[in-house]
Amino acid sequence: MNVYDGERMADQLASRGMAAAPKDDADLIVLNTCHIREKAAEKVYSEIGRVGKKRRLAGITPPVIAVAGCVAQAEGAEISRRAPSVDIVVGPQAYHRLPDMIAEVTAGRRALDIDLPGLDKFDALPKKRKSGPTAFLTVQEGCDKFCTYCVVPYTRGAEISRTWAALVDEAKMLVDGGAKEITLLGQNVNAWRGADDKGRDRGLDDLIRAIDRIEGLHRIRYMTSHPADMTDGLIAAHGDVEKLMPYLHLPVQAGSDRILKAMNRSHSRDSYRRILDAVRKIRPDIAVSGDFIVGFPGETDSDFEDTINLVADIRYAQAYSFKYSPRAGTPAATMENQIAPKVMDERLQRLQALLGEQQLAFNRSVIGQQCDILLERKGKYEGQLIGKSPWLQSTHVEVTGLKIGDMARVHINEAGYSSISGEVLMKAAA
Ligand code: SAH
Ligand code: SF4
Repeated sequence: MNVYDGERMADQLASRGMAAAPKDDADLIVLNTCHIREKAAEKVYSEIGRVGKKRRLAGITPPVIAVAGCVAQAEGAEISRRAPSVDIVVGPQAYHRLPDMIAEVTAGRRALDIDLPGLDKFDALPKKRKSGPTAFLTVQEGCDKFCTYCVVPYTRGAEISRTWAALVDEAKMLVDGGAKEITLLGQNVNAWRGADDKGRDRGLDDLIRAIDRIEGLHRIRYMTSHPADMTDGLIAAHGDVEKLMPYLHLPVQAGSDRILKAMNRSHSRDSYRRILDAVRKIRPDIAVSGDFIVGFPGETDSDFEDTINLVADIRYAQAYSFKYSPRAGTPAATMENQIAPKVMDERLQRLQALLGEQQLAFNRSVIGQQCDILLERKGKYEGQLIGKSPWLQSTHVEVTGLKIGDMARVHINEAGYSSISGEVLMKAAA
């Protein structure tokens, strides 16, 4: 979502006559920030320090320095205090105001806007834009779930869905601009709801089916989804919407029901497993991905074993795993029995070793198969292109006569931890 937001900020500034510049030459530097874990938030201050120092050496402006995103939202006042070189602080829902804020700064004032005004920023987007072969489309933002460890409900605000019409239009615009694949985005993307063009109440599966009808689009993905919003309709879509890729990112966080409860996750270990069973029944080859937190307050060895055996049971194709990071203002930060860093390290290592093995096994499981690869970028070597398999694996191929944006039919013959490779058989449908 930060990539999407960053691109939209660039679009907006471009429509005011600004253009991207190398960091050392820029008149404006926008740091788009993440607040989800402490480490991400701290990086922001060291980066501000770096660009700010350069500015002092160069003798004040330019560059104008803007901090955008969730750190700006959560720590607006603190940023101004800790980092006097920052001119603009703009939250994730207010970045359509960036051009005005830049004008304020050039008039000699500091500018701060961390309102959460809903969906205004999307109205300010340019109506036409060029796109690479893959594009993101934010359909929903915010979160009402209040997991006890998480800052998102505070930094991104309440769950709010963009309208059906706006989304179908933007999807068409992306395809017109060159996109072959669209990834629908949201903090809880499957919580999306809205009325369709006939006023009927619709969910994400209906939106996917509407976007599926756009000619020229080849692939649809969505992330991040929440187990509580995994409807029967969405599960069914994995069986019959051809453009919906066989990949599901469904975070579970932990395998122990006791910990899930303390996290205020609205699912249990079993309800999570049942969802994946249902999806796999309909789409047996689906690549399952997840998020995990180790060392949540009160997590015992036996709770952690529950995570390990859940992972062993599910078999993930890919996953993100993190050490629990206490975040000020969240209920978990003041819970008793915070876990020692050393214990968290050990647990994370064990979990990541297992997830790594599973990822390699999944990658190897596609050796010998033929699949379509959407070519996205140049590789390291002459004639090499890198694209994505249906299962979101990075795929290296040697090509002649094919270019970025083409779909290639590929025979997979090698697999490593983080990528696979194969031989192009022919160009697939244009
Ligand atoms: N809405 C999604 C996840 C969005 S946040 C869901 O609930 O499934 C992305 C991931 O960051 C989470 O899934 C979680 O694994 C991780 N995360 C969030 N807060 C964290 C914290 N305080 N410490 C460690 N990891 C955290
Ligand atoms: Fe955070 Fe996801 Fe929980 Fe919302 S559902 S509070 S975004 S982890």
